[in-house]
Amino acid sequence: MMHLILLGPPGSGKGTQSGQLSERLGVPKIATGDMLRAALRDGTELGRRAKQYMEAGELVPDDVILGLVGEALAAAHAGAILDGFPRNVPQAESLEEILQGNGQSVDAVIVLKVPDDVIVERMSGRRTDPETGEVYHLKFNPPPAPIAPRLIQRPDDREETVRHRLSVYADQTEPLIRYYEENGVPIHWVDGTQPIERVRSEILTRLGR
Ligand code: AMP
Repeated sequence: MMHLILLGPPGSGKGTQSGQLSERLGVPKIATGDMLRAALRDGTELGRRAKQYMEAGELVPDDVILGLVGEALAAAHAGAILDGFPRNVPQAESLEEILQGNGQSVDAVIVLKVPDDVIVERMSGRRTDPETGEVYHLKFNPPPAPIAPRLIQRPDDREETVRHRLSVYADQTEPLIRYYEENGVPIHWVDGTQPIERVRSEILTRLGR
């Protein structure tokens, strides 16, 4: 049983790492951003409520998020890798209550460290092929010339929005590091600019796996 939180700015690799860790550790991944994007695609009421916030790079209201994760957490008997949740102190307090109700707690927090300029470069160059869903990067993983014209940019990946998301991270999410420190939860800092496999193996080593 393990409840692991991945913290780090947008574009620090939480999604990539949480997927791989989930497979490796055999515990489900709960990623609120993915769940919100699915709700948006499906055109649900929840998706409609979340849309404007996501496109502006703001946090979606806590009650929407708690409605979304509550069920998933209750079902995660083997523990969970939490990616993108909690995003602020009130969400962390709600998580604490839910876990306590089941006699559980947060076991560890991983913080992926990536400097702002690297994030902006990573995200402002990210492009998606609407026909295949394939993700490219104009500089690091350039698309084949014939499909280049049809690629689109995720609305919240525009440079101004990314900069805003970084400030939301600094103001609302980063204080969670202090919160968990004060609650005696082990915090593991990992350099997120390293290659994907290296980040993964460092996380596993820190977890003693
Ligand atoms: P992500 O894919 O985790 O970067 O999330 C994309 C967007 O979804 C964020 O910029 C927020 O608008 C919204 N979002 C995801 N998770 C949360 C959360 N726990 N609380 C509030 N908003 C969230």
